[in-house]
Amino acid sequence: MAFQKRTRPGARDDKKKKKGGLKLRKRKICRFCENHIKRVDYKDERMLSRFTNERGKIIPRRISGNCARHQRKLTTAIKRARVLAILAFESESFR
Ligand SMILES: [Zn+2]
Repeated sequence: MAFQKRTRPGARDDKKKKKGGLKLRKRKICRFCENHIKRVDYKDERMLSRFTNERGKIIPRRISGNCARHQRKLTTAIKRARVLAILAFESESFR
């Protein structure tokens, strides 16, 4: 049948390869732990903006590589900065 030919034979294998690649990837080190930063300064706009994307969203831990403790402190710092208009809640230029 023509339908059976349409199925992609390598689709499943690709997924498996991706998973294996993720496991082999080097583990990221938390930047705050590395530099022994105990407090995350909410006034430091340049540092905070490094952990937000172009739209102003906070980059998740699995991408930024932060540890749980520092990611928590970072999110509160970013949210504080947003209230003080240091950081943007949402950028309108990306729509
Ligand atoms: Zn950390």
